[in-house]
Amino acid sequence: VTFPVPMTIRLVKQHQQVCVHCLHVSIPGTTSSSFILPIQTVIEDINTMNRDNTQKGIKTRICMISDTHTCRPNPPTDTSNPYRHPLPKADVLLHAGDITKVGHKIEHEAMVAMLKEAEAELKIVIAGNHDITLDAEYYARMGRTRHRTGPLEDPAEIRELWVGEDARKAGIVYMDEGVRTFTLSNGAQFTLYASPYQPEFCQWAFAYERRVDRFNPSPPVSPFQAPNPVPSYPDVDILLTHGPPYGILDQVYYSNQSVGCENLLKACKRARPRLHVFGHIHEGYGAVRQDWTNNTSERILQDPETVLENRSCYYNASSDGKRPLRYGEETLFVNASVVTVNYVPTNAPWVVDIDLPPAT
Ligand code: 5GP
Ligand code: MN
Ligand code: MN
Ligand code: MN
Repeated sequence: VTFPVPMTIRLVKQHQQVCVHCLHVSIPGTTSSSFILPIQTVIEDINTMNRDNTQKGIKTRICMISDTHTCRPNPPTDTSNPYRHPLPKADVLLHAGDITKVGHKIEHEAMVAMLKEAEAELKIVIAGNHDITLDAEYYARMGRTRHRTGPLEDPAEIRELWVGEDARKAGIVYMDEGVRTFTLSNGAQFTLYASPYQPEFCQWAFAYERRVDRFNPSPPVSPFQAPNPVPSYPDVDILLTHGPPYGILDQVYYSNQSVGCENLLKACKRARPRLHVFGHIHEGYGAVRQDWTNNTSERILQDPETVLENRSCYYNASSDGKRPLRYGEETLFVNASVVTVNYVPTNAPWVVDIDLPPAT
């Protein structure tokens, strides 16, 4: 026997993961029943399921918001009637985190209420670094630093607002980090990867050290294994993360420095999703169409008057539009921050039409 013992593990199901550190073996003729041997694992490709991309996609309308910080996007001028300017109607509503200012229950109640009213059959929500009570580990450690006066919040109670029956009945799906497949009434089916985590900045919640790669699988020998890496193309259709990837709608005010995550960009290139929605860097609000085949990108421009009229930015990337998105070759990136760098909620929600694969 050679040490470490070589072995190959083939993953046959989508998104399967293994973690093997050692091997228990018994050797005949010895009294000891088992030895622990170190092993060298090679994990073979996860992408055994290939989609047929020649099939016609199903046009689906997706409304995107992020960084509401307990504000309604584009607040109505007539404040006596908060229903005058509802969120745009869509098949799917995505919220990319920083739902609240600092995670108080009263803030979450207001935002759950806003999403309950929204016209969409499915509303997928993730947390951001400001939603401190949804990061139970963080809140136990830092709750008192962030909520200096009054009783502390109960993280379980706040989580229940998002995952409880009332929210579910309204089509709300709160996601922790990971992957889920959804089927819509229009016959479309898509797989979405979600992550509320972003590079550490000012000691907020859901943070990781910038140099740590939590989005890509690492070699078996490395000390850190990403707990929920992004699946590779073609296993994920939409990415929903709080933070931006490096270099895409991620420049901060004044210095214009890009502060997005390089490892997330690496995961984007590997996953080549149809759509990637995020926020976090409020100044980066906007949309970009990225072509992976020649590494060019194009800003999606909007006519300000039309935006004001519709109270949304609209872009048609479906096959009945002028330029259908080429899945596997292009990704549409949207920074959907509702608030500006000064936390004023004057940015309109984004609405895109996009083709999603038919349910299998
Ligand atoms: P938030 O506190 O809502 O997560 O982020 C608000 C603002 O903080 C962003 O619009 C951006 O100006 C700044 N910010 C957030 N993360 C970073 C970061 O990693 N680096 C820098 N330089 N600024 C950041
Ligand atoms: Mn407080
Ligand atoms: Mn924010
Ligand atoms: Mn943020």
